[in-house]
Amino acid sequence: MAMKSLDDLDVSGATVLLRADLNVPLDGMAITDDGRIRASLPTITKLAGRGARVLIAAHLGRPKGAGYAERAAGGPSLAPVAQRLGELLGQGVPLAADVAGESAATLAAGLAGGDVALLENVRFEPAETSKDDAERGELAARLAALAQLYVGDGFGALHRKHASVYDVPALLPSAAGDLVLAEVAVLRQLTAEPARPYVVVLGGAKPSDKLGVIASLLGKADRVLIGGGMSYTFLTAQGHEMGRSLLEADKVGEVSRVLAQAAEQGVEIVLPVDLVGAAMFAPDAEHHVFDVAAFPADYEGVDIGPATRELFAAKLADASTVFWNGPVGVFEFPAFAAGTLAVATAIAALPGLTVVGGGDSAAAVRKLGIPEDAFSRISTGGGASLEYLEGSTLPGLEALDSA
Ligand code: ADP
Ligand code: MG
Repeated sequence: MAMKSLDDLDVSGATVLLRADLNVPLDGMAITDDGRIRASLPTITKLAGRGARVLIAAHLGRPKGAGYAERAAGGPSLAPVAQRLGELLGQGVPLAADVAGESAATLAAGLAGGDVALLENVRFEPAETSKDDAERGELAARLAALAQLYVGDGFGALHRKHASVYDVPALLPSAAGDLVLAEVAVLRQLTAEPARPYVVVLGGAKPSDKLGVIASLLGKADRVLIGGGMSYTFLTAQGHEMGRSLLEADKVGEVSRVLAQAAEQGVEIVLPVDLVGAAMFAPDAEHHVFDVAAFPADYEGVDIGPATRELFAAKLADASTVFWNGPVGVFEFPAFAAGTLAVATAIAALPGLTVVGGGDSAAAVRKLGIPEDAFSRISTGGGASLEYLEGSTLPGLEALDSA
């Protein structure tokens, strides 16, 4: 790979703009899973240890509002992230009051070698995500002016053509961080010549997020297990009534075509045979197990049922390669986490290459108490890994490749 690594940059004494993925789930101001911060630590400590002045750019959530002021006022601020990063590093991490304005410039100018500081949520700047090259370019220039070098380590954002991901690396000597290199190495293993059987497990809320990857995986995987909210559209396509379950009615046609294509290509698609249905969407909702052929009209699916747990475990038992993206139930509610726990446990027991992708899937593994090292890799980027597996070029990777 032509991509440069940290070892190709002379970072000592230089200000390095590090694009990291610190997009952690929040409950108010509390971080509910700090996995992405911890995954970013090796590159941060390596840079700081080599005497760099580390200035981190990152996004958090989806700030709303027409302009900078409105978004900055609405949040979310990276303040809780700066706090947690400081705790994990054992050194204070000051946070700029803006992204690439006066405060950022003052903060950058005051850094000493080994210091680590954070810019405010880069998505407070509407230009970060703009489709207009000139708008993004203007923000990229302001960001680049804060530093002498750029390191791209925000794997979870690499599939975005955003200013801090795609445009800044064209303006500064740049390299990929260790997290990005490690993530890409595993995805290459999944796409190159995966050991067979290669089993893919997909869950999560909506099929529209993942139909593209399913279609392209049909050419590669031997078996695709589908659970979670997205499975209800598949079951509907097979003629089942799914009551008040999540349904993307406008995707039923496309899902039917995917099922037909799978049958044609000899790829086994495994859907739930039973479901946990809840009377309402609440952690303490009344719930029962239903056969998919007899799902009541006034219930909604919230997890796979016990027969499906066994079916999925059996379909995973002989796998040499597994990619899993998306919880198969509303695991955030303990009463509906059994399906996701069963899938995670079955995959964790396998000796082959096992990759978990997706922020919520990774959070589920940690929340359910499964040791992270039971998997070959827990990827920090759901969307980015899916797009890579789909065969798309990731803009951020392209930018680092040509840097
Ligand atoms: P990842 O972040 O791992 O890529 P997604 O974001 O696609 O996963 O999906 C995760 C979300 O899907 C979780 O918040 C989970 O509660 C939800 N989900 C899973 N199964 C269901 C279901 N049956 N009904 C509603 N939501 C579901
Ligand atoms: Mg998610």
